[in-house]
Amino acid sequence: MEQFDVAIIGGGPAGSAAGHAAASNGASAIVIEKGVPRDDRNGQMGPDSTDAAGILDYWVDIMGIHPDEMPEGVILDTLDRAEFIGPTESLTMESTGINSSYDQFGFCMHRAKFDDFLRSRAESAGASYRIGTSVRSVDTESPTAHQVRLADGSELHAKTVILADGPQRQLTNRVLDTFLSFEVTDRLSTRKANHIAYQEHRRLPDAVAAEIDGAIKFWWGHMPGHTAYPWIFPNDDNIARIGLTMPIGLSLEDISSPSDYPLLSADDTQLPRGSEYIRRLLEQEYGDEYDVSNDFPVVTDRGKKDGTETYAISSTRPIESPTQAGIAVVGGAMGATSAFHEGGDHTAIRTGNIAGELAANGNIANYNNRWKNEIGDEVLRNAAMADIVRSYSPDDWDHAFATARSLISDTGGWEMFKLSNIRAGMNATKLLGAYKMAKFRFRNGQYVQLTESEYAFWTPPAELTLLSRWRGFIDDDPVSMMSLDGPWQPMRWVLINALSHLQLRKHLMK
Ligand SMILES: Cc1cc2nc3c(=O)[nH]c(=O)nc-3n(C[C@H](O)[C@H](O)[C@H](O)COP(=O)(O)OP(=O)(O)OC[C@H]3O[C@@H](n4cnc5c(N)ncnc54)[C@H](O)[C@@H]3O)c2cc1C
Repeated sequence: MEQFDVAIIGGGPAGSAAGHAAASNGASAIVIEKGVPRDDRNGQMGPDSTDAAGILDYWVDIMGIHPDEMPEGVILDTLDRAEFIGPTESLTMESTGINSSYDQFGFCMHRAKFDDFLRSRAESAGASYRIGTSVRSVDTESPTAHQVRLADGSELHAKTVILADGPQRQLTNRVLDTFLSFEVTDRLSTRKANHIAYQEHRRLPDAVAAEIDGAIKFWWGHMPGHTAYPWIFPNDDNIARIGLTMPIGLSLEDISSPSDYPLLSADDTQLPRGSEYIRRLLEQEYGDEYDVSNDFPVVTDRGKKDGTETYAISSTRPIESPTQAGIAVVGGAMGATSAFHEGGDHTAIRTGNIAGELAANGNIANYNNRWKNEIGDEVLRNAAMADIVRSYSPDDWDHAFATARSLISDTGGWEMFKLSNIRAGMNATKLLGAYKMAKFRFRNGQYVQLTESEYAFWTPPAELTLLSRWRGFIDDDPVSMMSLDGPWQPMRWVLINALSHLQLRKHLMK
């Protein structure tokens, strides 16, 4: 049976970043990607690659990959602003307000070409890829021995496993279940935690393409659902990605005032499908001047199939990984995609990078601390924003845009939340206060939805003996040391072991 230092499941940005980092640090690494055929990859199998693929300036530094490193064809348009449009108010941001080494506002990419670039970068570093077969299961025999079973019947062994299977995280959920005394899907089921995203590639009339060139546009408060909104992102050749995201399972009966939403109609008997929302958005914005169905044609050789694509998007907060079992969860699978604006290529790459490097150096126990240090500020900002807009009505969006406009005139982007802006009037103070309060609630990593302390591990004597843990002999293992701090830790250890036995029984009875 093949043996690797690191097995990475999923070949999107997080998985390929992990493969690159693991191989660059001297490990034997394999990336396994189930593969989907895509029109924009000439029908070839590869990662799913569904994305609006907009990157903001400071995300470049989070990714650690500058656009200059990318081959031709990856960058489709550079950006100079973001426009947020409410039912009656709007807001334009020309700066994110965060220091960055990239001197534009951002850029839009060809996500399939970006993934292919990440793959070739990982392969050049020495990682191998297996495309076209999914991983069915991971059996953890010890923290340094995992058996990975593939759908084609083959198996391989790895010392460390990195789960990078994206926001649907079906495999991740199954793996985490074996370390929990409750079903992880009770907390992180797709219906509870995820949104569905739909987008179309459409060619725009010249005047509209010129108007949106350099701008990513979002319509908030136009359709119901927490963090549900349509967008237009400019690409090359007068083509734009026009898409939307909405919570899975939302229905018209859940909406208290449907008539407040510009994209709902009094005749609706159910919530519109994604394609209908897009048609209504284009009619609303351009219907007076254009015949939308003829003047905004779908570009059928782009995207996943026939110019359209559908994929889950994880609008949730992150989880800690069961690193004591030698497993790290990265990117969309760990919920690193922003709970607010649902961008996540940057955090996927950063978390993949950290996990790959630590796995190669035999130090995966540091993973949860490292990602919190490196992307914690970004997660905190977005978790706080997602929290304060949770119950926003269309009117609230208008209010927020009008308020933010007055704050942004002095500062830029996230800078508007500086305490000095408290002088900008009552509405500004309320917005600022809500943001500070939400950040305070999630301080010290409390944005995490599942903590490492909730996992229960059975510990083979040869790997970690009760005695060595008890005495704190594993000095170089911060997680073990952390779990031995304080007078209650012996009790906790007994409890963890009791749970581990229950867990082991559950595992054996499968
Ligand atoms: C419509 C849409 C628009 C978005 N817009 C933006 C944006 O503008 N900017 C931004 O930064 N982010 C955006 N995002 C979010 C971004 O796409 C994700 O944050 C990012 O893709 C996460 O990367 P990942 O590698 O973790 O997961 P993914 O990209 O989802 O990759 C996971 C991979 O795992 C594979 N896989 C799954 N299960 C298995 C298995 N059992 N075995 C083998 N392989 C498996 C899948 O085929 C997939 O290729 C958008 C997402 C969507 C859906």
